[in-house]
Amino acid sequence: MGRIVGHLDMDAFFASVEERDRPYLKGSPVIIGSDPEEGKGRGVVSTANYHARKLGIGSALPISKAWQLCEDFRKEGGARCVFITAGIGKYTHASQEVFSIVSSTIPVMSQSSIDEASLDLTFCETFSAAEELVKNLKEEIYKKTNLTCSIGIGPNKMIAKIASDFDKPDGLTVIVPEEVDSFLQPLSIRSIPGVGKVTAKALKKWGVETIADVQHYSWQDLQNKFGKHGFSLWERARGIDAHPVEKRKAKSQSIGKHHTFNVDTKDIHEVYAVLQKHIKSIVKEVQKQGFSGFRTVVLTVRFEDFNTVTRSLTLDAPICSAKALELKTTKLVLPFFEKTENPKNLAIRLIGVRVEKLT
Ligand SMILES: [Mg+2]
Repeated sequence: MGRIVGHLDMDAFFASVEERDRPYLKGSPVIIGSDPEEGKGRGVVSTANYHARKLGIGSALPISKAWQLCEDFRKEGGARCVFITAGIGKYTHASQEVFSIVSSTIPVMSQSSIDEASLDLTFCETFSAAEELVKNLKEEIYKKTNLTCSIGIGPNKMIAKIASDFDKPDGLTVIVPEEVDSFLQPLSIRSIPGVGKVTAKALKKWGVETIADVQHYSWQDLQNKFGKHGFSLWERARGIDAHPVEKRKAKSQSIGKHHTFNVDTKDIHEVYAVLQKHIKSIVKEVQKQGFSGFRTVVLTVRFEDFNTVTRSLTLDAPICSAKALELKTTKLVLPFFEKTENPKNLAIRLIGVRVEKLT
């Protein structure tokens, strides 16, 4: 018997959580991202709800551009857009709620990000039974969390992922093995996971735009052009993907970052700026790996004389936000600018921060 795989993707996740928690946002374009600073902001959009997407606003768009599109829309008499700074703790909590519902129904699932997971539905035995199960799951998620998701079902992970994206929001798309080819052929090659801008551009030079177009080429042609990725492209264009749905790999024991200064420094502001950058990327990585928080914070300091000191603290309850991590890190780093940890007033060569006891 072949496999049956599902892919679940929450709809406009961060924006949906905000809309759920603030009903007065209903009907407005909602943009989660960095502060637009009235058009001068330098960050990007993280998530846009479906009203905002209609204005051409989506993930990774510069926030200043989003602001401009909103202003234009308002001047034409449209609704005022709402900009919200990401509240990661809240989204992590919602994600946990959703995926604990999923994992209580589906024994083998693998979360790939804060709002997506592959589901092994082979135990359902037939595609129609899998569809029924997933339909009920969608309802249960909505009933308990007030959030919608889109789910794709197919004979492997890749088809399931593409199918989950096919009918958003609140979609359920089932592709049985006999339908794989006709489903894939009209789609853009960009629908294939792993085909990015660069590959798409190279293929366009051959006149290749749809998956059907790629299918005209032999694996040798594709391998000559793209090296080892060529063969995998050939496979993917035929809907072949053998990756199993695996329960999450062994949890990483810690996530951290360190930085060596070009010139040893005694400047607290310089050190602090580096730490802040590290903190942001650590918190992002924690979420990316599907953890909801951590309890231990470790700071490493290497002085100009290469003497290296590590200080850590462990909390009773996990924390997950950049703000909370910043607070704890500050507590650990300050003594290194005082006699307490730095009696000889040495310059700092390297600074590192990592988090452990991930949950
Ligand atoms: Mg999503």
